[in-house]
Amino acid sequence: MSTLAPPDPAPSAPPTPLLDVERIREEFPILHQQVHGKPLVYLDNAASTQKPRAVIEALDAYYRRDNANVHRGLHELSNRATEAYEGARLRVASLFGIADPAELVWTRGTTEALNLVAWTWGQANLRAGDEVLLSVMEHHSNLVPWQLLAQRTGARLRFLDIDDQGRLDLSALDELLTERTRLVSLAHVSNALGTVNPVRQIAERAHAVGAVMLVDGAQSAPHLPVDIPALGCDFYAFSGHKMCGPTGIGGLWGRRTLLEAMPPFLGGGDMIDVVELEGSTWAALPHKFEAGTPHIAGAVGMGAAADFLAGIGRDAVCAHERALVGYALERLAEVPDLRVWGPRDPAERSGVVSFTLADIHPHDLATILDAEGVAVRAGHHCTQPLMRRLGVSSTARASFYLYNTPAEVDRLADALRHARKLFGY
Ligand code: PMP
Repeated sequence: MSTLAPPDPAPSAPPTPLLDVERIREEFPILHQQVHGKPLVYLDNAASTQKPRAVIEALDAYYRRDNANVHRGLHELSNRATEAYEGARLRVASLFGIADPAELVWTRGTTEALNLVAWTWGQANLRAGDEVLLSVMEHHSNLVPWQLLAQRTGARLRFLDIDDQGRLDLSALDELLTERTRLVSLAHVSNALGTVNPVRQIAERAHAVGAVMLVDGAQSAPHLPVDIPALGCDFYAFSGHKMCGPTGIGGLWGRRTLLEAMPPFLGGGDMIDVVELEGSTWAALPHKFEAGTPHIAGAVGMGAAADFLAGIGRDAVCAHERALVGYALERLAEVPDLRVWGPRDPAERSGVVSFTLADIHPHDLATILDAEGVAVRAGHHCTQPLMRRLGVSSTARASFYLYNTPAEVDRLADALRHARKLFGY
């Protein structure tokens, strides 16, 4: 009897690339390196994406030429810094279809944007007995701020469940959405499963009971051609570092009427109008929510990232990622003992593919993939309740972006087969 292992099945045909990926990759210097002697395959984009030359150069030019504090100087450099900072707001607003840039507040990222709403709108509007509707797939950033708010106010948290493909179970909406619901806060795209949630449809249902709808856009802003006001939500939070921008910058979009009625978040310079010893009045939007010296360079870099993505076309980015994910699902299905979590249909997903391989611990898997030059993430992905709901302690996660290629999907699949063999499967 032959002791040879059966040949690997014929792999699926790679999709025709929808973007000129080779040209795009030229814009990302960091991608052109070897890791452990192998060309880097960067598939940890849901955690943080790489930065194009245009963003790196915008940061460099800002610090070399224009650096000064904003809004208060009467000198040339301060005026330039202010123009760059406010100009970046206009560019990001335009990327997301926001007509009124005063509705776009700079924050450190999604986490801060969500906490801002919890501390201001939440504190002002929630009372004991009110309800906040979340889901079991939320990132800790869209869970813990509401737990803290519930502890402060006596409000109650309720949760949408998921089906066996990791999609929200909307059949429970009628029961969960009631006149007690004040806020619905959901991820647009799950960072752990890749599921795209029907936030527009849910926003309509939320509004029908008088609730406010917040969308955690950390994983949709980078990957879907999001027009924020068209989503029909009331607040939308996002992070720059997940969409080609720098770390430490992101934003909160809110409806003007809500933002105007909300108390400020942090107190300090720049967010005030008149300050007396015993009390103060607030600056106009968006500055009411931007206390202290902001991350000016971060905003400038974010503006460059918005221009970069707009230049490539977000529909094209989305179509490219869908094709890559479709191909990845086919290639991973060919790896024996591998289980992919989340929706089976690529049309219901964004660029995230979570998986487990037999009983190999995801951390071991990620370490073996790293030795093959393939960077993925492993762990609970800041979604411990979701992991518990799925009955796993963790998963490994490959996440794609506009610079990834079908050949890199092949490298991932090959590295997984290698890991399987190393573990004696
Ligand atoms: N929500 C989701 C769905 C995320 O994926 C992340 C980042 N992993 C966050 C919130 C938090 O984003 P940040 O760390 O940039 O504040």
